[in-house]
Amino acid sequence: MIIDGKKESALLREEIKKEISLIKEKTNKTPGLSVILIGEFAPSQIYVKNKEKNSREVGINSEVIRYPKEVTEQEVLEKIKELNNNANVSGILVQLPLPKQIDKEKIINAISPSKDVDGFHPINVGNLSSGYKTVVPCTPLGCLLLIKKIEKNLDGKHAVILGRSNLNGKPMAQLLLKENCTVTIVHSKTKNLKEECQKADILVVAVGVANLVKGDWVKKDSIVIDVGINKVKDKIIGDVNFDEVKDKVKAITPVPGGVGPMTIACLLKNTLECFKDR
Ligand code: NAP
Repeated sequence: MIIDGKKESALLREEIKKEISLIKEKTNKTPGLSVILIGEFAPSQIYVKNKEKNSREVGINSEVIRYPKEVTEQEVLEKIKELNNNANVSGILVQLPLPKQIDKEKIINAISPSKDVDGFHPINVGNLSSGYKTVVPCTPLGCLLLIKKIEKNLDGKHAVILGRSNLNGKPMAQLLLKENCTVTIVHSKTKNLKEECQKADILVVAVGVANLVKGDWVKKDSIVIDVGINKVKDKIIGDVNFDEVKDKVKAITPVPGGVGPMTIACLLKNTLECFKDR
């Protein structure tokens, strides 16, 4: 089965839109998302444009605050402080990567944890690893929702996560642990990478190496989630060799059209949750 991320994302966005419309009817209030975009990096421009468009479509008040790449760290920190104190702003997102004069850690730490729609603040990271209710990073949350469309009960499943980034691998591991999976995280220093992947009932790949996972790396009837986005000869492909793997497994996400659309839908979901919590 090929998991249709576009379809699942559309269903989730529809649910969010309905809920926002009901809230507006009752309270005359709507969630607000402020995105800070620094510089002219082309992929960031595209991501932010998509986030803005998708927010508007579900009824979230979205604003993009743009700075030239020379902006000082202080100026951005002051803006974040202002947004933290603005009751109309439910969520704040600073688009990464940042120019080198700006310390990513300082920026992430400056965002109020209750408005941190990316789920990157150390308090939210700590809450997730303690198993408490919190804001979960959008991409791993999207992956989990897709996995649960295929298999509701994940008790005792062996999940292998390829990649250990703060953005993807680590939060994915926490989410699957919470779902009672037995979790293995593998990375660039892991010995026997292929053998580890072969043990997976659920394999989540977030590496950034085109076609790394081959047909003989996966277990029959497993679920494979490909987070990777790699541009090869003007084509976007994932970290999994889709053609070799697709007929062997129970379900797989394509690239594009798999995890990507879910990431944006989960950003909208997080914005709505932050709004409701406040
Ligand atoms: P990252 O921070 O670069 O982390 C990559 C991870 O993969 C690291 O843990 C690294 O190991 C491991 N790795 C790299 N090469 C490896 C190899 N040959 N064998 C085994 N492990 C290897 O990347 P990321 O931010 O998590 O992103 C991963 C991919 O997901 C990228 O293609 C990115 O574009 C994509 N992405 C997609 C979405 C989406 O919405 N679909 C969202 C975010 C990111 P070490 O830790 O040992 O270095």
